[in-house]
Amino acid sequence: MQKEIAELIKLDGSKEKYLKDIVDGKFYDFPLQSIIDAETRLAAKETPSISYFSMEFGLAPSIYHTFKTVNPVSDLNILSRHEVFSNMKDMDYYHSLPLKKILDLPIYSGGLGVLAGDSLKSAADLGISLAGIGILWNKGYFKQKFWFRSGGQIPDALAWDPHTYPGLIPLKPKVDITLSGQKLTLKLWKYYVYSNDLKNVVPLILLDAHTDENPDYFRELTDQLYRSTNGWLKIAQRMILGMGGVKALDALGYSIGKYHLNEGHAAFAFVEKAKSQPLEELKPKFAYTCHTPVEAGHDRFDMQELSAALGPEGTEIMKNYGRDERNPNVANLTLLAMSTSNHVNAVAQKHGEVTRLQFPKYKDKIQSITNGIHTHTWLSKPIKELLNKYKSVIGDWENEPTLLANVRNLRTDAAFRHDLWQAHAANKQTLAKFLEYWYIDNRSFTIAWARRIAPYKRPGLLLHNPNRLIDIARRCGPLQIIIAGKAHPADVPASIHMDEMLEKINLLNGERKLLRICFLENYDTYFGKLLTSNVDVWLNNPLPPFEASGTSGMKAILNGVVQLSTLDGWVVEAADKNIGKIFGYVPPPGEIGSESDLKLAEDSEALYQNLEEMANLYYATLSGKIKIEESAWVEMMINCIAESGFFNTQRMVREYNEKIWQD
Ligand SMILES: *Cc1c(COP(=O)(O)O)cnc(C)c1O
Repeated sequence: MQKEIAELIKLDGSKEKYLKDIVDGKFYDFPLQSIIDAETRLAAKETPSISYFSMEFGLAPSIYHTFKTVNPVSDLNILSRHEVFSNMKDMDYYHSLPLKKILDLPIYSGGLGVLAGDSLKSAADLGISLAGIGILWNKGYFKQKFWFRSGGQIPDALAWDPHTYPGLIPLKPKVDITLSGQKLTLKLWKYYVYSNDLKNVVPLILLDAHTDENPDYFRELTDQLYRSTNGWLKIAQRMILGMGGVKALDALGYSIGKYHLNEGHAAFAFVEKAKSQPLEELKPKFAYTCHTPVEAGHDRFDMQELSAALGPEGTEIMKNYGRDERNPNVANLTLLAMSTSNHVNAVAQKHGEVTRLQFPKYKDKIQSITNGIHTHTWLSKPIKELLNKYKSVIGDWENEPTLLANVRNLRTDAAFRHDLWQAHAANKQTLAKFLEYWYIDNRSFTIAWARRIAPYKRPGLLLHNPNRLIDIARRCGPLQIIIAGKAHPADVPASIHMDEMLEKINLLNGERKLLRICFLENYDTYFGKLLTSNVDVWLNNPLPPFEASGTSGMKAILNGVVQLSTLDGWVVEAADKNIGKIFGYVPPPGEIGSESDLKLAEDSEALYQNLEEMANLYYATLSGKIKIEESAWVEMMINCIAESGFFNTQRMVREYNEKIWQD
């Protein structure tokens, strides 16, 4: 029996130890039957399945579906030490965060990857037959360390051990691609993503160049995500994902009817397919999701360099379909994906408008499918229990998260309002406990900003004028600010923002009575969940229109965490739903503007004014000056949860399925 299973899932049979976790109808303690069903469906010739290509996938067993193993797990896969950089310096020196957890699968850098991971989970929840294709990054992205004395971030290499990461299994088939005239061999791994009810799975296939057949300079190709400035290396990584991915699906015997490219990184999948099939046959099979609203954000390569890596056949295809319109010596992966996919989509309504302006030639096929988040992953326990208590009004939201819209019907229910306030208090208690050494308490007004440190996201806006924060705290009550995020090590402006923030926090040392600021090291999905569920206000202040969608605020609204946001990305679609306060610069219609003018002075002032109003309302509700029954704060919390009925990947993946995959 075990041999048959190993055969079915294509496990590398020479690796005996993995079989110890596949016993008694279980796979790492999860039902094996779901895997058998999914693999059988993926192989069925008469019903072709979907493939979903992405450079990164965010999956974290520390917050959802933890695989259990009987084999030893390397210490490298356990994170046990996190520092805090705060304005309570003495605490930073003596304490680190009380945390011991399994590392996120270290193959993502930010929101794009988290979205890809959440999409796989919802595809599983919806019973869609789908396989994910990605890369096994042997050194992850990077590990962030703070440099205490001078302030700033040190990017440490991340060492982890795929061979003892629970649930990650090596496969027997390997695939080859030709890179710069040489054979590159790719090893394959598999990681099963289970549905919430455990009845279905979606396999994620990961390509890995670390194999004996390859010379060292090839093995390094799958070391680090997004860390190369070398054109050849970037091209090679994209060839691995796109071309290696197509070959991997064939080698595993999967019958695929749709190739979904999550970003242009995977566009060489088309080049591989076009070697044996005509364009007109392929176009309906390709779908492309564009995630960036900035033209400069699209992958471009020198045609000659590309040609040397790709070989004559691939180059011919690139020249036909992926030549930059303005510069014939440049290959443009976005244009390749746009011109060869019948289905193209942007990730929010507003992003769709911007994308149609940028690519007028393709405007008729560019749709918008607004992003979402996976409800079961991001929902905190107290709010989950609350929703279950009111299931008779809400409906079976666990099977159908879109029913959360019915929370609106509880708006005038006094008991619900009190229960919601209590559930939120329990969440804040969790945060207070977690950061107790930093004097974070469960009653003070708490605001968080956490995401990639990218200049357009304006990480330092809240700290622009720290004196204003102290003023607000004096007038309203203490302010607690929690920040987290990594700056891409090669992004110099981002690193400067980061240094400035740490410097400002340093200067506020001694203000802890009024203002407590903690910058948590090494932001990941675990901290993402901790912060999006346990603070009072989620701050989102990108410079419009540069945030295609954003998703962290969606995690927050699900937990009743009120928004303080600029008008950009997904927030535009909820702007009239009273989920918080909207402030700041709005670009004139039809204009994209420039990322270099961050408008920090004007927008920070607007931010402080709104923050003060919010702090007043929060403290009035907390003290009972405004009754829970009448509090506009509680009203906003309810609207937030109700809106999360729309901003989830159950709705989003269903839209992909109906509008694109089944088309
Ligand atoms: C959700 C999430 C993101 C995305 O945040 P945005 O607000 O969309 O920028 C990035 N990183 C992590 C770890 C996340 O959990």
